[in-house]
Amino acid sequence: MPAIWDLPDFDSHEAVHVFEDRATGLKAVIAVHSTHLGPAAGGTRFWHYADSQSAITDALRLSRGMSFKNAMAGLPAGGGKAVILANPSRSKPAEMLDAFARAVDSLGGRYVTAQDVGMSEADMVHLSKTTAHVAGLPDQGGDPGPYTARGVYLGVKAAAKHVFGTDDMRDAHVAIQGVGSVGGGLARYLAQQGAKLTLADVDAHRAAALAEELGGVAVAADAIMDVEADIFSPCALGAILTEETVASLKVRAVAGGANNQLAKGSEGRMLADRGILYAPDYVINAGGIINVLRHIDAADDAEINLRIDAIPGRLSEIWKESDASGSTPAEVADQMAQKLIGR
Ligand code: NAD
Repeated sequence: MPAIWDLPDFDSHEAVHVFEDRATGLKAVIAVHSTHLGPAAGGTRFWHYADSQSAITDALRLSRGMSFKNAMAGLPAGGGKAVILANPSRSKPAEMLDAFARAVDSLGGRYVTAQDVGMSEADMVHLSKTTAHVAGLPDQGGDPGPYTARGVYLGVKAAAKHVFGTDDMRDAHVAIQGVGSVGGGLARYLAQQGAKLTLADVDAHRAAALAEELGGVAVAADAIMDVEADIFSPCALGAILTEETVASLKVRAVAGGANNQLAKGSEGRMLADRGILYAPDYVINAGGIINVLRHIDAADDAEINLRIDAIPGRLSEIWKESDASGSTPAEVADQMAQKLIGR
């Protein structure tokens, strides 16, 4: 096993903390990628990993991602991530969560945690009884989905403006993959502005009902990426942009809320080569984290709205730089984020 500094995902993390509490069975990693802009903020993932090496790699990869996301969201926060190594039965006794909360607390606020896969809202409330360094509690802004949806809507409009020279949505046809919290919210914003909508969801009934309500069309989940439209908005799963799907897209832009849309990363270049504008996912979908981290600098609703309003401008900046330099939008976003965190 290589030393931690030699792992491909290490990327000069400021610190990687490894915790074990024998009494409760807690095994956890807290990775602090950067505190350059503020406390390292990012969720806690509770997951059963094949081995401890995979857990460390996951923490490092996700932590770096949070540095980039928080920086590009204009937040006074750095990036970090915690993973708790679940046992095969995935039991999560309260005493283990207490031990984890003490671990978070021992970092004195250099790491601020939030909800992620495998952790419930109730788990986060439980942690907050032991440590103050928990963000996104129910009384601190609630469900991030609607905030993410508004940021994605503004990003879709910005994409239309960049490609077609107008953000009048009455001229636009948007195909949305996944109409849950984010995609459904986006569809409502777009419908209000008179956009033509094609919707799809693995829950076909959900897509059909929303299409009927908003005057759009519903198609089968496996057909949405073949729809001829102006903009494709992925709001369901990650890794949906593959060599194969990018080749079949019949749109001028991809702008949606799903995390980690590029399956390998190289698809960013394929999109550019096909003349399809891409909105880097972690920039366009930052509305939720902007709201979740509101307590870091006691931001009020007006400030949260201003930060979300800044998303389209940041995307335009990325696209202009991409047009000028020939780098893909995803590459430009990473470069901008690195500069912001002093790397
Ligand atoms: P959600 O569970 O509310 O909605 C997702 C929807 O996608 C569901 O209706 C589901 O049935 C559908 N779906 C799943 N697989 C599909 C497929 N293959 N084809 C079509 N539809 C499919 O989730 P959400 O909160 O709306 O999040 C959507 C995406 O946005 C996720 O990738 C999430 O990680 C990302 N995201 C969400 C937020 C947020 O604030 N909720 C923030 C940032 C990123």
